[in-house]
Amino acid sequence: MKKKNFISILIVSIISFNSLALNPKAFTEEENKKLVICIDAGHQKKGDSKLENVSPNSSNKKPRVSQGTEGISTKKPEYVVNLEAAAILKDLLVEKGYTVIMTREEHDVNISNAERAEIANKSKADMTIRIHCDSLKDNSKTGATLLVPSSKGSTKDIFDESNKYAEILKSNLKDNGVKVNGIFERNDITGFNWSRVPVVIFEMGFMSNSCEDAMLCDQNYQRKLMSIVADSIDQYKDGIKGLKN
Ligand SMILES: [Zn+2]
Repeated sequence: MKKKNFISILIVSIISFNSLALNPKAFTEEENKKLVICIDAGHQKKGDSKLENVSPNSSNKKPRVSQGTEGISTKKPEYVVNLEAAAILKDLLVEKGYTVIMTREEHDVNISNAERAEIANKSKADMTIRIHCDSLKDNSKTGATLLVPSSKGSTKDIFDESNKYAEILKSNLKDNGVKVNGIFERNDITGFNWSRVPVVIFEMGFMSNSCEDAMLCDQNYQRKLMSIVADSIDQYKDGIKGLKN
């Protein structure tokens, strides 16, 4: 039943003939179609504290989905901000001609982190972008943070490509005046450890900082960040051998 549920959530967006005909960059869009991008809007309306294995080769367990944070001033839940940004990113990537897979497009779902990774695996995604917001007790902390799977252990085969994209994203965020705290390898993230395709978590900023909380809830700022993510996908794609003319 769960399987059926999440298969029904898979949404494949295919560029229409119309926009192809109207857009002078039609050849690039044709080329973009070759790439499948999975977008995972982090969390969901209600966390699920039932446990699942953190990794296929470990008996360590973690909750299926944690609750996520909320804005210190706006009180907006993280799962709402994540999906707002994810929807913007989906539109931007579809416009560019990419095939986009969304792990969720609603709040009231129950899809574990391992199941989200499996959605990306089954769709043979070329890159998965997982969208989150951060939170810390220290409410002065600000900036974006990028997480990538570990270069050791079960994720060693997806590290290079994940890190390549993260480096491109980091440099483009910085060029656009967005503070980046760095790229960090993590071996404790379920959604990384079950992934067989390259994957990056984009922590867009800290909802525990009232200024950044307000920015993260602002559509214009979300659009700015997501444009940088989408343009970084273009750049990443251009670096993949055989896809460039
Ligand atoms: Zn989160």
